[in-house]
Amino acid sequence: MTKEELWQAVLAQIQLNISPANFNTWFRNTAILSFKDGQVVISTPNSFTKEWLEQKYNKAIFKILRDLKDEIKEVEYAISRQEVKTVKEFTALPIDSDQLEFPELKADKETNLNPRYVFGNFIIGSSNELAQAAAWAAAENPGKIYNPLFIYGGVGLGKTHLLQAVGNEAAKNSSHKKVRYITSEKFTSEVVSAIKNHSMEGLKSKYRTVDVLIIDDVQFLAGKEKTQEEFFHTFNSLYEKNKQIVLSSDRSPKAIPALTERLRSRFEGGMIADISYPDFETRLAILKQKSQERKINLSEEISSYIATKIQKNIRELGGALNRLVIAQKLGEPITIETVKSLLKNLLTTQNKITTPKKIIQAVSDFYDLKEKDLIDPSRKREIVRPRQIAMFLLRDNLKCSFPYIGRKMGGKDHTTAIHSYKKILNEIKTNENMKDEIELINQIISSL
Ligand code: ADP
Ligand code: MG
Repeated sequence: MTKEELWQAVLAQIQLNISPANFNTWFRNTAILSFKDGQVVISTPNSFTKEWLEQKYNKAIFKILRDLKDEIKEVEYAISRQEVKTVKEFTALPIDSDQLEFPELKADKETNLNPRYVFGNFIIGSSNELAQAAAWAAAENPGKIYNPLFIYGGVGLGKTHLLQAVGNEAAKNSSHKKVRYITSEKFTSEVVSAIKNHSMEGLKSKYRTVDVLIIDDVQFLAGKEKTQEEFFHTFNSLYEKNKQIVLSSDRSPKAIPALTERLRSRFEGGMIADISYPDFETRLAILKQKSQERKINLSEEISSYIATKIQKNIRELGGALNRLVIAQKLGEPITIETVKSLLKNLLTTQNKITTPKKIIQAVSDFYDLKEKDLIDPSRKREIVRPRQIAMFLLRDNLKCSFPYIGRKMGGKDHTTAIHSYKKILNEIKTNENMKDEIELINQIISSL
């Protein structure tokens, strides 16, 4: 990644989280002046902007940079007018980031609800109308109609959006109702630390006193017995009091492995609605709605091009748009040619064969390393982690044997390969950023 690309990636995330006006005011004519020895210097056009970035945005900028390149240790700001160069192709552009610490569109600390997810900006189509209707009914009459409500569907199809919308709507309708949204990973880690700190009572009262409990991605409860047990009791306690429970998963309750039978039957006891892939019209409508939100004008030709190309993940539609917004801000005209070139990397071509070579190439590309370094037996810190990720992907995508992976990646022992695989797998489960990172690398792999 060049420093231009790095900065584009940062901007792409920032502009998702602040208003266009703020973005324009503070980030126009900024660039990365230099990047070496873990220090990034960001150039700003004047002292006012410099101060503002230092005071208001430094934390977020630093976090995004760190997430992109973990060797970054320090961010400095300088005044110098840079001609901002247009970057034609973005590789590995982070797409979604709900967790940035910006004053606007930030999730509430207490409820974990993010005001950006509401019914009003959720587009209804045949792929999601049942789920939407059920979610709406649950929000309007918590605990009365569909309890629990279980929504399932693939990645990036709007589950979190709908769940959050239920919470926001229910909270809006009656301000005295206690609403809480939590991911099952977060819930798990709370259970784990409550056990460790002997503070189970506190946890119980935290969740058993809410009116609407929303748990996202319950597939991650698989195999976590203690958490499942705790959740089972919480579930029953709320259910008996007619409190609304809303759940999501990437698959149906039946298909979640290692879920205790009693919990599975609870999940199946209410309303189950699935979300499938959106059809062309729905994709187009979502794109239009999102482009209005972002204040970018797309011609019919361009909108249909994007909606034709991106079919299986609505998050990617947002990501595509994001790239166009950035290009526009950089003064690039939005023509069908630019769109094609900008989206080239995003378009995951199906049916292409993944090979170990592609995985290694993608990981080195992503972390800006030489392939040779990755497969040589070096112990350098900046190599160790990408190598672990490569090992993980070799196993996860290709089911390569551990001895093979060890040999391939620097002549390591098979136990090293197993350790790497488990380590990364665990991180993906507990860390959103890691999940995104892997998703991005997978996008690169399928674009090769
Ligand atoms: P999931 O939780 O299923 O992985 P998300 O709810 O995070 O997916 O959705 C991914 C992105 O797509 C979000 O930005 C969300 O707002 C958007 N999105 C998904 N479905 C719709 C829809 N029907 N209308 C508008 N935006 C949508
Ligand atoms: Mg989600």
